[in-house]
Amino acid sequence: MEQSKNVDKGCEFCGAARVRLYGVNLGGIRRQMARCSGCGSCQVDSPIDEAEIETYYRDAYFGRAKWQVEKCEVLAGDYWRKIRRIVGSTNPGPILEVGAGYGFLAERLRISTGRRVDVVEPSDDCCAFIRDRFPELKIAGSSVNALVSGQEYAAVVCFHVLEHLQELTAWLRSVASLLQDGGRVVALTPNAMAGGFLKDPVRWLWVGADQHLQFLSPEIPNRYFEELGFRVTHCAATTPCYIHFPSRWLQELSDVGDGLEHGRGTVLDQVLPVKRLVRRLRMFARNRLQPNSSASWLLKVECCIDRLRGGQDRDELLLCLQREGSGSAERLRARCGGVNSKRNV
Ligand SMILES: [Zn+2]
Repeated sequence: MEQSKNVDKGCEFCGAARVRLYGVNLGGIRRQMARCSGCGSCQVDSPIDEAEIETYYRDAYFGRAKWQVEKCEVLAGDYWRKIRRIVGSTNPGPILEVGAGYGFLAERLRISTGRRVDVVEPSDDCCAFIRDRFPELKIAGSSVNALVSGQEYAAVVCFHVLEHLQELTAWLRSVASLLQDGGRVVALTPNAMAGGFLKDPVRWLWVGADQHLQFLSPEIPNRYFEELGFRVTHCAATTPCYIHFPSRWLQELSDVGDGLEHGRGTVLDQVLPVKRLVRRLRMFARNRLQPNSSASWLLKVECCIDRLRGGQDRDELLLCLQREGSGSAERLRARCGGVNSKRNV
Protein backbone atom coordinates (compact mmCIF):
# COMPACT_ATOMS: atom_id res chain seq x y z
CA MET A 1 0.00 0.00 0.00
CA GLU A 2 2.49 2.60 -1.14
CA GLN A 3 -0.01 5.40 -1.45
CA SER A 4 -1.46 4.81 2.03
CA LYS A 5 -0.32 8.22 3.38
CA ASN A 6 -3.04 10.19 1.70
CA VAL A 7 -5.61 7.48 1.34
CA ASP A 8 -8.74 7.44 3.48
CA LYS A 9 -8.32 5.11 6.47
CA GLY A 10 -11.40 3.16 5.36
CA CYS A 11 -14.71 2.30 6.95
CA GLU A 12 -14.62 1.40 10.64
CA PHE A 13 -17.24 -1.29 10.05
CA CYS A 14 -16.30 -3.04 6.81
CA GLY A 15 -12.95 -1.55 5.80
CA ALA A 16 -14.14 -0.32 2.36
CA ALA A 17 -13.03 3.03 0.93
CA ARG A 18 -15.07 6.17 1.65
CA VAL A 19 -16.26 9.13 -0.37
CA ARG A 20 -16.61 12.62 1.09
CA LEU A 21 -20.15 13.98 1.11
CA TYR A 22 -20.42 17.41 2.78
CA GLY A 23 -18.83 19.67 5.38
CA VAL A 24 -19.54 19.30 9.11
CA ASN A 25 -19.05 22.20 11.53
CA LEU A 26 -19.34 21.36 15.24
CA GLY A 27 -19.04 24.63 17.15
CA GLY A 28 -16.35 25.91 14.75
CA ILE A 29 -14.51 22.57 14.34
CA ARG A 30 -14.70 21.65 10.65
CA ARG A 31 -14.62 18.17 9.16
CA GLN A 32 -16.02 16.26 6.16
CA MET A 33 -18.73 13.61 6.39
CA ALA A 34 -17.64 10.53 4.43
CA ARG A 35 -19.80 7.65 3.17
CA CYS A 36 -18.52 4.07 2.98
CA SER A 37 -18.70 2.61 -0.51
CA GLY A 38 -19.27 -0.85 1.00
CA CYS A 39 -21.83 -0.73 3.83
CA GLY A 40 -23.10 2.84 3.23
CA SER A 41 -22.49 4.06 6.78
CA CYS A 42 -21.13 7.58 7.27
CA GLN A 43 -18.61 9.05 9.67
CA VAL A 44 -16.65 12.29 9.98
CA ASP A 45 -13.20 12.23 8.51
CA SER A 46 -11.10 12.65 10.60
CA PRO A 47 -12.40 12.20 14.16
CA ILE A 48 -12.77 15.31 16.36
CA ASP A 49 -10.97 15.50 19.71
CA GLU A 50 -13.19 13.80 22.32
CA ALA A 51 -12.55 16.51 24.94
CA GLU A 52 -13.88 19.19 22.57
CA ILE A 53 -17.02 17.16 21.91
CA GLU A 54 -17.59 16.66 25.62
CA THR A 55 -17.29 20.41 26.25
CA TYR A 56 -19.78 21.12 23.46
CA TYR A 57 -22.41 18.77 24.88
CA ARG A 58 -21.78 19.81 28.47
CA ASP A 59 -22.23 23.53 27.85
CA ALA A 60 -23.81 24.33 24.51
CA TYR A 61 -26.14 21.63 23.25
CA PHE A 62 -29.12 21.80 25.61
CA GLY A 63 -30.45 25.08 26.93
CA ARG A 64 -33.46 23.97 28.95
CA ALA A 65 -35.73 25.94 26.62
CA LYS A 66 -39.41 25.07 26.92
CA TRP A 67 -39.60 23.57 23.43
CA GLN A 68 -36.56 21.37 24.10
CA VAL A 69 -38.13 19.93 27.23
CA GLU A 70 -41.51 19.42 25.50
CA LYS A 71 -39.86 17.77 22.52
CA CYS A 72 -37.97 15.38 24.80
CA GLU A 73 -41.26 14.37 26.45
CA VAL A 74 -42.99 13.67 23.12
CA LEU A 75 -39.99 11.68 21.86
CA ALA A 76 -39.99 9.56 25.03
CA GLY A 77 -43.47 8.28 24.11
CA ASP A 78 -42.38 7.36 20.58
CA TYR A 79 -39.16 5.64 21.69
CA TRP A 80 -40.98 3.66 24.37
CA ARG A 81 -43.52 2.34 21.85
CA LYS A 82 -40.68 1.15 19.63
CA ILE A 83 -38.61 -0.60 22.28
CA ARG A 84 -41.00 -1.83 24.96
CA ARG A 85 -41.19 -5.39 23.63
CA ILE A 86 -37.43 -5.67 23.36
CA VAL A 87 -36.91 -4.23 26.84
CA GLY A 88 -39.63 -6.52 28.20
CA SER A 89 -37.70 -9.56 26.94
CA THR A 90 -34.35 -8.62 28.49
CA ASN A 91 -32.92 -10.29 31.58
CA PRO A 92 -34.10 -8.84 34.86
CA GLY A 93 -31.70 -6.20 36.17
CA PRO A 94 -31.02 -2.48 36.07
CA ILE A 95 -31.12 -0.42 32.90
CA LEU A 96 -28.77 2.35 31.82
CA GLU A 97 -29.87 5.10 29.45
CA VAL A 98 -26.98 6.87 27.72
CA GLY A 99 -27.67 10.45 26.63
CA ALA A 100 -30.89 10.67 28.63
CA GLY A 101 -31.57 14.34 27.87
CA TYR A 102 -34.21 15.59 30.29
CA GLY A 103 -34.90 12.07 31.59
CA PHE A 104 -38.47 11.51 30.37
CA LEU A 105 -37.78 8.13 28.79
CA ALA A 106 -35.63 6.93 31.69
CA GLU A 107 -38.45 7.73 34.11
CA ARG A 108 -40.92 5.94 31.86
CA LEU A 109 -38.64 2.89 31.79
CA ARG A 110 -38.33 2.99 35.58
CA ILE A 111 -42.08 3.14 36.15
CA SER A 112 -43.02 0.64 33.42
CA THR A 113 -40.45 -2.02 34.27
CA GLY A 114 -40.15 -1.47 38.02
CA ARG A 115 -36.37 -1.69 37.65
CA ARG A 116 -33.61 0.65 38.71
CA VAL A 117 -32.75 3.01 35.86
CA ASP A 118 -29.47 4.95 35.79
CA VAL A 119 -28.60 7.65 33.29
CA VAL A 120 -25.49 8.96 31.60
CA GLU A 121 -25.85 12.58 30.53
CA PRO A 122 -23.13 15.11 29.68
CA SER A 123 -25.29 18.28 29.79
CA ASP A 124 -25.24 20.17 33.09
CA ASP A 125 -28.66 21.68 32.32
CA CYS A 126 -30.22 18.27 31.72
CA CYS A 127 -28.68 16.80 34.88
CA ALA A 128 -30.07 19.68 36.95
CA PHE A 129 -33.51 19.09 35.41
CA ILE A 130 -33.36 15.33 36.12
CA ARG A 131 -32.34 15.85 39.76
CA ASP A 132 -35.20 18.25 40.17
CA ARG A 133 -37.96 16.42 38.33
CA PHE A 134 -37.00 12.73 38.50
CA PRO A 135 -35.11 12.23 41.78
CA GLU A 136 -35.49 8.43 41.58
CA LEU A 137 -33.13 8.31 38.59
CA LYS A 138 -29.46 7.98 39.41
CA ILE A 139 -27.05 10.06 37.33
CA ALA A 140 -24.18 7.62 36.88
CA GLY A 141 -21.80 9.92 34.99
CA SER A 142 -21.25 12.14 31.98
CA SER A 143 -20.07 9.42 29.58
CA VAL A 144 -19.87 5.62 29.46
CA ASN A 145 -16.09 5.87 29.68
CA ALA A 146 -16.42 7.45 33.12
CA LEU A 147 -18.34 4.45 34.53
CA VAL A 148 -16.68 1.58 36.35
CA SER A 149 -17.03 -1.61 34.36
CA GLY A 150 -18.99 -4.02 36.47
CA GLN A 151 -21.21 -5.94 34.04
CA GLU A 152 -24.08 -4.66 36.05
CA TYR A 153 -26.77 -3.72 33.54
CA ALA A 154 -29.33 -5.92 31.80
CA ALA A 155 -29.78 -3.28 29.08
CA VAL A 156 -28.08 -0.13 27.83
CA VAL A 157 -30.44 2.01 25.79
CA CYS A 158 -29.63 5.11 23.76
CA PHE A 159 -31.87 7.11 21.49
CA HIS A 160 -30.49 9.47 18.89
CA VAL A 161 -27.13 9.45 20.57
CA LEU A 162 -25.00 7.33 18.23
CA GLU A 163 -25.15 9.98 15.49
CA HIS A 164 -23.40 12.34 17.91
CA LEU A 165 -20.50 9.90 18.31
CA GLN A 166 -17.79 9.34 15.75
CA GLU A 167 -16.13 6.00 16.51
CA LEU A 168 -18.52 3.26 17.51
CA THR A 169 -15.96 0.57 18.32
CA ALA A 170 -14.52 2.29 21.40
CA TRP A 171 -18.01 3.11 22.64
CA LEU A 172 -19.26 -0.48 22.20
CA ARG A 173 -16.24 -1.80 24.10
CA SER A 174 -17.06 0.48 27.01
CA VAL A 175 -20.71 -0.54 26.90
CA ALA A 176 -19.82 -4.25 26.73
CA SER A 177 -17.91 -3.89 29.99
CA LEU A 178 -21.07 -2.53 31.67
CA LEU A 179 -23.44 -5.25 30.42
CA GLN A 180 -24.30 -8.59 31.97
CA ASP A 181 -23.83 -11.70 29.82
CA GLY A 182 -26.90 -11.76 27.60
CA GLY A 183 -27.50 -8.04 28.26
CA ARG A 184 -28.64 -5.88 25.39
CA VAL A 185 -27.84 -2.61 23.71
CA VAL A 186 -30.95 -0.99 22.20
CA ALA A 187 -30.46 2.05 19.98
CA LEU A 188 -32.39 4.32 17.65
CA THR A 189 -30.38 6.45 15.24
CA PRO A 190 -30.78 7.95 11.74
CA ASN A 191 -30.58 5.36 8.96
CA ALA A 192 -27.69 5.99 6.57
CA MET A 193 -29.51 3.97 3.88
CA ALA A 194 -32.68 6.13 4.02
CA GLY A 195 -33.92 6.97 0.54
CA GLY A 196 -33.87 10.73 1.12
CA PHE A 197 -30.26 10.63 2.28
CA LEU A 198 -29.09 8.51 -0.65
CA LYS A 199 -30.90 10.80 -3.07
CA ASP A 200 -29.73 14.14 -1.71
CA PRO A 201 -27.31 13.95 1.24
CA VAL A 202 -27.02 17.71 1.76
CA ARG A 203 -30.76 18.38 1.99
CA TRP A 204 -31.70 15.33 4.06
CA LEU A 205 -33.48 16.64 7.15
CA TRP A 206 -31.32 14.59 9.48
CA VAL A 207 -27.96 15.77 8.19
CA GLY A 208 -27.53 18.17 11.16
CA ALA A 209 -24.13 19.27 9.93
CA ASP A 210 -23.57 21.23 13.15
CA GLN A 211 -23.90 18.17 15.42
CA HIS A 212 -24.15 14.77 13.67
CA LEU A 213 -20.88 12.92 13.20
CA GLN A 214 -21.97 9.39 12.26
CA PHE A 215 -24.86 7.58 10.55
CA LEU A 216 -25.12 3.80 10.87
CA SER A 217 -26.37 1.52 8.13
CA PRO A 218 -28.32 -1.75 8.27
CA GLU A 219 -25.67 -3.07 5.87
CA ILE A 220 -22.90 -3.01 8.49
CA PRO A 221 -21.66 -6.62 8.46
CA ASN A 222 -22.72 -8.73 11.46
CA ARG A 223 -19.13 -9.82 11.86
CA TYR A 224 -18.19 -6.28 12.96
CA PHE A 225 -20.47 -6.64 15.99
CA GLU A 226 -19.51 -10.28 16.53
CA GLU A 227 -15.85 -9.38 16.85
CA LEU A 228 -16.82 -7.10 19.71
CA GLY A 229 -18.77 -9.90 21.42
CA PHE A 230 -22.27 -8.86 20.31
CA ARG A 231 -24.93 -10.71 18.36
CA VAL A 232 -27.30 -8.60 16.25
CA THR A 233 -30.81 -9.56 17.34
CA HIS A 234 -32.68 -6.71 15.66
CA CYS A 235 -31.77 -4.32 12.87
CA ALA A 236 -34.62 -2.64 11.02
CA ALA A 237 -35.56 0.68 9.47
CA THR A 238 -38.42 2.47 11.21
CA THR A 239 -40.38 5.70 10.80
CA PRO A 240 -39.13 8.56 12.97
CA CYS A 241 -41.38 10.42 15.38
CA TYR A 242 -43.03 13.33 13.56
CA ILE A 243 -41.66 15.80 16.08
CA HIS A 244 -38.12 15.31 14.77
CA PHE A 245 -38.93 17.51 11.81
CA PRO A 246 -41.72 19.91 12.72
CA SER A 247 -42.65 22.24 9.89
CA ARG A 248 -41.05 19.99 7.29
CA TRP A 249 -44.20 19.94 5.15
CA LEU A 250 -44.44 23.70 5.11
CA GLN A 251 -40.73 23.75 4.38
CA GLU A 252 -41.26 21.43 1.42
CA LEU A 253 -44.06 23.62 0.18
CA SER A 254 -41.76 26.58 0.60
CA ASP A 255 -39.09 24.83 -1.47
CA VAL A 256 -41.64 24.13 -4.19
CA GLY A 257 -42.52 27.83 -4.16
CA ASP A 258 -38.84 28.73 -4.47
CA GLY A 259 -38.39 26.33 -7.38
CA LEU A 260 -41.42 27.66 -9.18
CA GLU A 261 -40.42 31.27 -8.67
CA HIS A 262 -36.79 30.90 -9.65
CA GLY A 263 -36.81 27.99 -12.05
CA ARG A 264 -40.11 27.68 -13.84
CA GLY A 265 -41.70 31.00 -12.93
CA THR A 266 -43.90 31.10 -15.96
CA VAL A 267 -46.06 28.27 -14.63
CA LEU A 268 -47.29 30.29 -11.68
CA ASP A 269 -47.28 33.57 -13.56
CA GLN A 270 -50.47 32.22 -15.11
CA VAL A 271 -52.15 31.88 -11.72
CA LEU A 272 -51.11 34.82 -9.59
CA PRO A 273 -53.36 34.10 -6.59
CA VAL A 274 -51.78 30.65 -6.16
CA LYS A 275 -48.35 32.16 -6.41
CA ARG A 276 -49.21 34.70 -3.73
CA LEU A 277 -50.54 31.97 -1.45
CA VAL A 278 -47.43 29.85 -1.87
CA ARG A 279 -45.26 32.87 -1.17
CA ARG A 280 -47.17 33.72 1.99
CA LEU A 281 -46.93 30.14 3.25
CA ARG A 282 -43.26 30.12 2.41
CA MET A 283 -42.64 33.33 4.33
CA PHE A 284 -44.68 31.97 7.24
CA ALA A 285 -42.64 28.78 7.31
CA ARG A 286 -39.39 30.68 7.10
CA ASN A 287 -40.07 33.51 9.53
CA ARG A 288 -42.66 32.43 12.03
CA LEU A 289 -41.85 28.84 12.84
CA GLN A 290 -38.82 28.02 14.89
CA PRO A 291 -36.91 25.10 13.41
CA ASN A 292 -37.83 22.97 16.41
CA SER A 293 -41.02 24.60 17.47
CA SER A 294 -43.31 22.15 19.19
CA ALA A 295 -46.51 24.13 18.71
CA SER A 296 -49.20 21.56 19.35
CA TRP A 297 -51.34 22.41 16.30
CA LEU A 298 -48.34 21.95 14.04
CA LEU A 299 -47.51 18.61 15.59
CA LYS A 300 -51.05 17.42 14.98
CA VAL A 301 -50.83 18.43 11.32
CA GLU A 302 -47.48 16.69 10.97
CA CYS A 303 -48.85 13.56 12.63
CA CYS A 304 -51.89 13.48 10.31
CA ILE A 305 -49.76 13.91 7.19
CA ASP A 306 -47.44 11.12 8.32
CA ARG A 307 -50.38 8.80 8.94
CA LEU A 308 -51.93 9.63 5.58
CA ARG A 309 -48.64 8.87 3.91
CA GLY A 310 -48.53 5.51 5.70
CA GLY A 311 -45.17 6.14 7.33
CA GLN A 312 -43.14 5.86 4.17
CA ASP A 313 -40.04 7.63 5.45
CA ARG A 314 -38.06 4.89 7.13
CA ASP A 315 -35.28 7.26 8.07
CA GLU A 316 -34.55 5.76 11.46
CA LEU A 317 -32.70 2.58 12.39
CA LEU A 318 -33.61 0.38 15.35
CA LEU A 319 -30.62 -1.67 16.38
CA CYS A 320 -30.47 -4.29 19.13
CA LEU A 321 -27.31 -6.13 20.09
CA GLN A 322 -27.00 -8.91 22.63
CA ARG A 323 -23.78 -9.32 24.56
CA GLU A 324 -22.68 -12.92 24.38
CA GLY A 325 -21.19 -14.62 27.45
CA SER A 326 -17.43 -15.14 27.40
CA GLY A 327 -17.78 -18.69 26.01
CA SER A 328 -20.21 -17.57 23.31
CA ALA A 329 -18.04 -14.58 22.48
CA GLU A 330 -15.09 -16.93 21.86
CA ARG A 331 -17.26 -19.04 19.56
CA LEU A 332 -18.41 -15.92 17.72
CA ARG A 333 -14.85 -14.79 17.22
CA ALA A 334 -13.81 -18.24 16.02
CA ARG A 335 -16.75 -18.30 13.61
CA CYS A 336 -15.84 -15.02 11.97
CA GLY A 337 -12.24 -16.20 11.74
CA GLY A 338 -10.17 -13.13 12.63
CA VAL A 339 -11.77 -10.88 10.07
CA ASN A 340 -9.78 -7.84 9.10
CA SER A 341 -7.57 -5.90 11.46
CA LYS A 342 -8.40 -2.44 10.13
CA ARG A 343 -10.93 -1.70 12.79
CA ASN A 344 -8.70 -1.65 15.83
CA VAL A 345 -9.23 1.46 17.92
ZN1 LIG B 1 -18.49 0.21 5.52
